[in-house]
Amino acid sequence: MNYFNNYRCTRCGQEYEPDRVKYLCPVCSKDYQPGMPLPGILECVFDYARIAIAWQEFCIAFPSANPSQKIEELCELFSPLNKEYYPNLPVGNTPLICSQSLVGESLYLKFDGVNPSGSYKDRASNLVVAEAKRLGIKEIVTASTGNAAASLAALCAAAGIKAVIFAPAKAPPAKLVQIKIHKAELHLVEGTYDDAFAAALAYSATHECLNRNTAYHPFTIEGKKTGGLELYAQLGVVPDYIFVPTGDGVILCGIAKAFYDLKEAGIADRLPILVAAQSESSDAITSYWETGVYKDAAKPQTVADSISVKTPSAAHLALKVLKDTKGMGIRVSDEEILSAQKMLASRTGIFCEPSSAATLAAYFQAREHALIKDQAIVVLMLTGHGLKDINAVKFDD
Ligand SMILES: *Cc1c(COP(=O)(O)O)cnc(C)c1O
Ligand SMILES: [Zn+2]
Repeated sequence: MNYFNNYRCTRCGQEYEPDRVKYLCPVCSKDYQPGMPLPGILECVFDYARIAIAWQEFCIAFPSANPSQKIEELCELFSPLNKEYYPNLPVGNTPLICSQSLVGESLYLKFDGVNPSGSYKDRASNLVVAEAKRLGIKEIVTASTGNAAASLAALCAAAGIKAVIFAPAKAPPAKLVQIKIHKAELHLVEGTYDDAFAAALAYSATHECLNRNTAYHPFTIEGKKTGGLELYAQLGVVPDYIFVPTGDGVILCGIAKAFYDLKEAGIADRLPILVAAQSESSDAITSYWETGVYKDAAKPQTVADSISVKTPSAAHLALKVLKDTKGMGIRVSDEEILSAQKMLASRTGIFCEPSSAATLAAYFQAREHALIKDQAIVVLMLTGHGLKDINAVKFDD
């Protein structure tokens, strides 16, 4: 039993029955060309009235439910798939750490490096692999800067499904090792992540398989929603600000979707302010938010490989999310990222990827420019484990 009703196009609003469409809105995606942000991304629409009732019943039956129990319930109520399809490898329910040691006041750190493959991507892979199981599909393809591939490889291994990966040859070695040890089929692309994205689309157009390209399959956003649901269950309130490391913009959109859904079901009363933390060299979503005109990032080259994207696939939806939540984009330099990474590791015990440390660097900028209200509840999404890219770390001595 679940409460998933329909897909809805985030551009034209047209609704589609599940199983009648697979990826993008058939109308809005007509003139899609590789190398542009995806038009007509689909979102899942639920029966919010029935979810509201089910949540009320849960709260009455378990008045002293702990955060983990609430997470389990919320993730089940707002999932488009029944539990039975999920791979046998637990994903999510990651710790939320309240730290005073970074800036003197409380900052919440959501550490997703503890997921099975070490990143937030497991949330999306989990749901797409479950979908393949439901459909009886035996092969899943994806493009990746590294983490999505490592994640798909692991979850496919758990489910006995073949993973086919297109990744840039320059991906950090640990991520390539993850892909290989899980026995995924690896195609190294001489070029960028954006080239890999196009190669994976071409592959699924000619092979019997499911495509997990981020934002292209609607369940990537839907899977990445669970991190937002968890924040709500762990804090007991909607946080004021959530800083999200942003490349394609799908984690940003997924976290936003959690709060759109919670609000729609009358469970939460407002949206958090979402902040896209971007590398200054990979800032297409921030520029789009500033100018209202979409333009590719000129030269995406950053130590934070996971957020290195020229053409963010979810750019249009990410812009809507920043507007709806009165959010903003913030650019940070590699230097700021690496210093934030060290600060997190030495003061909180969390060793995260450079991409994830971009959130702390962006938070410092936001404070410096007085963009954060006093006493606000602020969450930084630390999306990946530092061991995935040890070559990024430089020591002065
Ligand atoms: C993919 C990834 C991101 C960025 O997510 P997008 O959906 O591309 O914006 C951030 N951090 C880590 C660790 C990632 O793997
Ligand atoms: Zn449409």
